[in-house]
Amino acid sequence: MHHFQDLNLSPELQRAITELGFEKPTPIQAQALPLLLEENTDFLGLAATGTGKTAAFAIPLIERIDTDSREVQALILCPTRELAMQVAEQVSLLGKHKKVRALAVYGGAGYGDQIHGLKRGAHVVIGTPGRLVDHLERGRLRLNGLRVVVLDEADEMISMGFQDDLEKILGAMPEDQANAWLFSATMSPEVRRVADKYLRAPKQVQVNRAEMLPSAIEQLFYTTSEANKPEVLCKLIDAAEDLYGLVFCQTKSLVVDLTQYLKGRGYLADCLHGDMDQAARERVMKLFRERKVRLLVCTDVASRGLDVKDITHVINYSIPRELDNYVHRIGRTARSGKSGIAMSLVTPTQRGLVRRVERVTGSRMKEGGIPTRREIGEKKVRRLLPGFLAPQGHARAAQLLDGEWKKALTGMRAEEVAGRFLALFYPETFAEGSPPSPSRMPGRPVSAPGQGRSRS
Ligand code: AMP
Repeated sequence: MHHFQDLNLSPELQRAITELGFEKPTPIQAQALPLLLEENTDFLGLAATGTGKTAAFAIPLIERIDTDSREVQALILCPTRELAMQVAEQVSLLGKHKKVRALAVYGGAGYGDQIHGLKRGAHVVIGTPGRLVDHLERGRLRLNGLRVVVLDEADEMISMGFQDDLEKILGAMPEDQANAWLFSATMSPEVRRVADKYLRAPKQVQVNRAEMLPSAIEQLFYTTSEANKPEVLCKLIDAAEDLYGLVFCQTKSLVVDLTQYLKGRGYLADCLHGDMDQAARERVMKLFRERKVRLLVCTDVASRGLDVKDITHVINYSIPRELDNYVHRIGRTARSGKSGIAMSLVTPTQRGLVRRVERVTGSRMKEGGIPTRREIGEKKVRRLLPGFLAPQGHARAAQLLDGEWKKALTGMRAEEVAGRFLALFYPETFAEGSPPSPSRMPGRPVSAPGQGRSRS
């Protein structure tokens, strides 16, 4: 199956797919779509985010919806609010011409809109397990007309403690009428148990890890000590052109401290982690989507399902030991046919992890050279020229230069004047001597998080 046209889709759905710019099915879609469109079967799909798995279940699910009915016909369970919102958006876009109504319901948000939405009648309800159970138990969500239940990122939902809620929902499915489709990046024993208990003779499809990684991602690693990581990170950011990216850390406290550090050094950085309330997360995500924040520092869980367009770089502050997280993380870039760069900082003792990533993903990681201050300076100077030539108000500013200034400027060459201003505004790049110690992260007066010792 090489084209969506081979699938006999309804013209409405075909049109929506074309409008979304999907030209050919991704590997998981090529395998899952013929099965799910043609058979009433349970399903087990092993695929990570970034592989196109959402459309792999959303397309056949939309084809099953009878829009003349007002009943809820499909339920999609997601581990996080962010993912639920994104899946709801994709279902709405794909179902737009069929007039399929999708509704997202998730915890941490008010009940009013969700209850209203359920009363109005939604064909597809997408939500986090806890809130779905809540609506179900209060009789606001009825499953009599259900045809499909999708468990999206089942491994994540289970590791986040949603197993009981999942089982409640699966147990409430009308028997012999609805199919269950389970998607997971990994087949942990817990996922296997849920699958064995609730799926009946599921058809199974797996995309291997090499196929799961979009090929347009250039993977680089940089060897450095733990103590030097903050400084190396800044150099990589400075040397990159127009970076718009994610920085992944293993712990929430490191996320918070690193964000403070980056902000302190003047970067447009902000953070996303599990302890933030819904309003704070939404605020940060909005700023990031609007590109007012260009560096989002986050933990793995907070970033699940995060689908932001045109992310140029994913930076692993350290390579996660759980390699599935590596695949999840770097899959945030190179979306929708774009290319992207994944950079990982590794300490000399972690070089073995690089080999493991290569083996498991069947891809190559190239060792990158840490940019020197001179290289960064050259790039910065080159990039500043267009802005230097087009400022507003420079004549007015010049009028304000008083006698002291005039005396100071006497006999100075133009290059020296420009150089002095550059060094004034970018001391970390141009000043002599070593830059401020990276180990002085705010909140950690002596050593940066994860560092055993101070650099200085
Ligand atoms: P997912 O793995 O579902 O999170 O999807 C990853 C991204 O790929 C999303 O931004 C989708 O819009 C996009 N996508 C899904 N299917 C296709 C396709 N067949 N062609 C191009 N982009 C796709």
